Amino acid sequence: MTIIMSAKILDGKKIALEIKEELRLEIKKLKEKGIVPGLAVILVGSDPASKIYVASKKKACEEVGINSKVLEMSENTTQQELEVTIEKLNQDEKIHGILVQLPLPGHIDEEKIIESIDPKKDVDCFHPENVGKLSIGVGNIFPCTPAGIIEILKRNDIEIAGQECVVVGRSNIVGKPMAMLLLNNNATVTIAHSKTKNLAEVTKRADILISAVGKAGLITKDMVKKRAVVVDVGMNRLENGKLAGDVDFDQVKEIASAITPVPGGVGPMTIAMLMRNTVEAAKSSNLRTYE
Ligand code: NDP
Repeated sequence: MTIIMSAKILDGKKIALEIKEELRLEIKKLKEKGIVPGLAVILVGSDPASKIYVASKKKACEEVGINSKVLEMSENTTQQELEVTIEKLNQDEKIHGILVQLPLPGHIDEEKIIESIDPKKDVDCFHPENVGKLSIGVGNIFPCTPAGIIEILKRNDIEIAGQECVVVGRSNIVGKPMAMLLLNNNATVTIAHSKTKNLAEVTKRADILISAVGKAGLITKDMVKKRAVVVDVGMNRLENGKLAGDVDFDQVKEIASAITPVPGGVGPMTIAMLMRNTVEAAKSSNLRTYE
C-alpha cells in the first residue's frame, strides 16, 4: 500500500490579512502621534494589468489606513515630465513612499526613473542604493515579493538557516533579491536561470525551492526533492484564462512537505509588504516624533 502524503498548503492570503491587520493597528497608533503614512503610485499609460495592480494597491492602502494618491499620466508622458512629477513627490512631506508602476512605455528610461526616486521613499526597494544596502544586509526596506516569501516561511515555522535553497530566476525584481534575503537569513543559496545546465539536478538539491520564472508547468515532480518546501512565484495566464504558477501543483504537492498555491500564495504577500515598507518609510522620516 502506498500512502501519499499531501503537502501543507502555505496560505499567503491568510498571512497577508494578518500582516495588514497588524499594520492597521500600528498605523492607528502612528496617527495618534500625528503621523499619517502616505503612498504615491504613478501609473503611466493604460496597460490593463497595471491598472488592476494599481487599483489593488490603492484598496490595500484604504484597508490599513495609509493615505494613497494615484497619479495617472498619459502614455505620451515624457521622461522629463515623469522626473519632474517624481521630484515633487520627493519633496512632499506627506508622501513617504513612491511607487512607479512598471513596465513603463518604451520611450522612457526605466533605470533613470528608478534612480530619480528618493531612496528613502523607494518602497519597492529597486533603487541601486537600496539594492546595495540589501546586499550588505542593512536597512529596513526590503523588496516586496522576496520579503513576502521570507514572511510566509517564517510564519509557518520553516527553518531557513543552513538550508539548501535554490532560486530559479535571476531578475532584479524577484530572483536576485530573493537569493540575497535567503543568504541574509543564513541559507546556502544557488541561483538557477535559463542558461543553467541540468536544471532538474540543481532543483533536486533544494530543501527550499523557489521558482520565479514565468513558465507554467516548468517545475515537475521529478525536479523536486522529497519533503522539500516549494514556493511558486510564477504568475502565468493559461489559454483557458486561469492563473497558474511555474510549478505543476497537483503533482508536486504529493512529494513536497509544503507548497504555495497560485493564486493565494505569494501574490497577496507582495502588496502586504508594500504596505509594510510604506509604514517603515513613514516611521524613518518621523524618527523623532516616533520615538
Ligand atoms: P523575468 O522574466 O524578469 O525573469 C525570469 C527569469 O527566469 C530569468 O532570470 C530567466 O533567466 C529565468 N528563466 C527563463 N526561462 C527559464 C528556464 N527554462 N529555466 C530556468 N530559468 C529560466 O521575470 P520576473 O522575475 O519579473 O517574474 C517571474 C515570474 O514571477 C513571472 O511569472 C511574474 O509574473 C511573477 N511575479 C509574481 C509576483 C507576485 O507577486 N506573485 C511578483 C513579481 C513577479 P535569464 O536571466 O537567463 O533570462
